[in-house]
Amino acid sequence: MKPAPFEYFCPDTLEEALALLAEHGSDAKPLAGGQSLIPAMNFRLATPSVLVDLNALTNLAHVTVGDGSVRIGGMTRHRTLETNSDVARELPLVAMTMPFVAHAAIRSRGTIGGSLAHADPAAELPAVMLALHATITVRKQGGARSVPAGEFFTGLFSTALEHGEIVTEIDVPRAITGLETQAGLRHGYAFDEVSRRHGDFALAGAAAAVTVDEAGVCTSARVALLSVADRPVMAEQVSRALVGQPITRGPLSQLIRDAAASAASTDIDPASDIHASSRYRASLAAVLIRRVLERAFMSLVSE
Ligand code: FAD
Repeated sequence: MKPAPFEYFCPDTLEEALALLAEHGSDAKPLAGGQSLIPAMNFRLATPSVLVDLNALTNLAHVTVGDGSVRIGGMTRHRTLETNSDVARELPLVAMTMPFVAHAAIRSRGTIGGSLAHADPAAELPAVMLALHATITVRKQGGARSVPAGEFFTGLFSTALEHGEIVTEIDVPRAITGLETQAGLRHGYAFDEVSRRHGDFALAGAAAAVTVDEAGVCTSARVALLSVADRPVMAEQVSRALVGQPITRGPLSQLIRDAAASAASTDIDPASDIHASSRYRASLAAVLIRRVLERAFMSLVSE
């Protein structure tokens, strides 16, 4: 299949790109890695009459370790997130998740901004950004705004993005990444998913970020799930069950089992589709929540 005819622009500056998007309104779409948009155009599932290619905007591809957060430019490739040493050190949850995203060839082109804007409910990065409490900065001609990840994903392949807006940066706060200087806090992370073959979109997945204080008490337990709803969702029951609890080996296993079972039955109501039934997905979610919590806490527990 070939795409419907379209006009192509490759601006050199963000301002130019925003002006083109403003001028062409809902007819125009930004083009990032093209790994989702181009197949959709080839199948005529998307028929934009104007493409504004963001690939010359090299200043949108960066990982910057700042005072309050790690900032990731919207055009940062998946492969950079997988291999960059700042990401490995400061955002271990992101680094450990990237090998689960598609295949190496796709990761070398796909971008974080494209993944968040595309908002596939089975995509890994939206769930990881939710778990890490990230904030997404979007810009349009004449203005910018910041949208928390929890408000950015509004439904199936739907986001809070308006026509003419570009995802320019993602801020991941220190409090969740473990960069803050507060003495004695320890952080653990884990990601896991189940898919038919490696690189396929997941049938279900879970990302965990947990924090334990000096006294061994859990101060934060965030688990975000993918592929169990029309958007990434937080397993809210996990935080309710674990925050404030002393993290000691014996009781922890039972606490985690209870939290996972409760989250899978209360926080999600997955749909059935050709890949998996609702019941199967819910049971996968319970297993994955338990598994990521066990792994995330493993290095932090006391005897
Ligand atoms: P594009 O395809 O260029 O754009 C996607 C959409 O986002 C378009 O609507 C575009 O207009 C919009 N957009 C892009 N950038 C911006 C921006 N900065 N601001 C605003 N709007 C923007 N993904 C996974 O998460 N997990 C997988 O397992 C997975 N498997 C895949 C397997 C295959 C075979 C393929 C082809 C893709 C797979 N993907 C998977 C998708 C891949 O990760 C894509 O790269 C990603 O979803 C989109 O990123 P992109 O940069 O290619 O965006």
